[in-house]
Amino acid sequence: MCGIFAIKSLNEENIFTKLYWGILAQNHRGHDSYGFLTFHNGFKRFTGIGLVPKIEKEDFQKWKLLLPGNTGIAHVRYGTFGSRDLSFKLKAAQPIITLKNNKELGIAYNGNLVNIGGNVPDTEFISNYILEKNDIIDGIQNFMNNIEGAYSVVGLDPEGNLFAFRDPLGIRPLLFGEDNSTRAFSSESVGFNINDIKSFKEVEPGELYIIKKDSYERIKLVKRNRRAFCGFEFAYFSRPDSIINGKYVYEIREELGRRLGKRYQEFVRKSDLIISIPETADDAAYGLHEETGLKWERMIRRHRFVTNRAFIMEPDERISTISKKINVLNHGLQGKKVIVIEDSIVRGDTTRTVLRRLREAGAEKIYVFVTFPKITHPCFYGIDMATFSELIGFSFNEEQIAKIVGADAVCYQTIDDFINAVGMKRNELCMACTTGEYPTELAQKIVDKVKMSSEVLSNKRIYERLYK
Ligand code: SF4
Repeated sequence: MCGIFAIKSLNEENIFTKLYWGILAQNHRGHDSYGFLTFHNGFKRFTGIGLVPKIEKEDFQKWKLLLPGNTGIAHVRYGTFGSRDLSFKLKAAQPIITLKNNKELGIAYNGNLVNIGGNVPDTEFISNYILEKNDIIDGIQNFMNNIEGAYSVVGLDPEGNLFAFRDPLGIRPLLFGEDNSTRAFSSESVGFNINDIKSFKEVEPGELYIIKKDSYERIKLVKRNRRAFCGFEFAYFSRPDSIINGKYVYEIREELGRRLGKRYQEFVRKSDLIISIPETADDAAYGLHEETGLKWERMIRRHRFVTNRAFIMEPDERISTISKKINVLNHGLQGKKVIVIEDSIVRGDTTRTVLRRLREAGAEKIYVFVTFPKITHPCFYGIDMATFSELIGFSFNEEQIAKIVGADAVCYQTIDDFINAVGMKRNELCMACTTGEYPTELAQKIVDKVKMSSEVLSNKRIYERLYK
């Protein structure tokens, strides 16, 4: 999973300030590295490791000199490919520039390709594929017709024109926004809000935009009879104040909480309190509180400046980060029966760590309500849960999971309730990690094959192996 932002000024103003705010607003989508690429008599690039840096007001001028031009693209990366050491992170930082057949292309991307093996980073693969053809539109169409996966891409061509395209199923988000002086693309609407760009819409699946000085062109390159927007965006990844499909994500999360309350009334009746694991589950906790009338006590607080997202880390690092991130308040829990609301359970270590702390603080019974359905299958499309072996939901049933995480019961959202809460049709969403039904052919074939093989519990990412 990554975040992208791209912008062109319609007058000649330097674009860096807006580019910076647009990507900073989406830093939750990637902590491994960040990068900027602008165009002014050629490409100007800057990348770094970790979070997008804080820039003081007086330092913007220096950055504008470093990254001149009225068009630019920016990226934050959360790796789903390769190792997690620092040198690799810097090497994998985007945007990248590719030179082939005497043409240069700069791109940044969010997603994951299904079956290209583990040798070439997706971004290089995409650029090289596009540059195979003389014309960029032909190159992108060729790519869309032949390569399977999730991809939202923004780029700059050799003349500095901005372009953007999205895979034919629209698995990862991408929006187009404009006002009187700019045209822009963003993974989430918050990238526009922070820049005061009020008008935006979705880049349609299979669509290419080319932004020129006085005009822009939209071309539908590939048409499919379904869409497959990632359901996990609603439960975990997107910011609560982002708008997807006309609704704020926080409204959907509240509804997810309400639905859990309706479905699992026997546990609601036995409970004294709702506790949420901050911050993604807070909105669902509010919905559950509204539905049931149970008190929602914010007994778990976040250390505000520990910003790491535990999900995106290596196992050892993840557990110590979870412990450092949260503070469990040590009063009022003695002898209480509590519902703990969690956005999702992938490996189970976040939940286990938090529940241990709640037990130490005196909780007598703990019922875990999970807003996202049980994750049983790996993701091929850009979320780093890429092996069967790491998924607690693949190997264990609900009772076993409850024991492993230290709960008295674990209650998952049903798939139907989730889809109804989101308000999209079943064939508009990807829910493959919960159903095992993949929206792309090759991913389905690979999973079916791996499930029957002795490699099912291999630790190597499923899409980093090449299947013939
Ligand atoms: S498999 Fe799951 S995480 Fe991956 S795109 Fe589909 S819904 Fe999202």
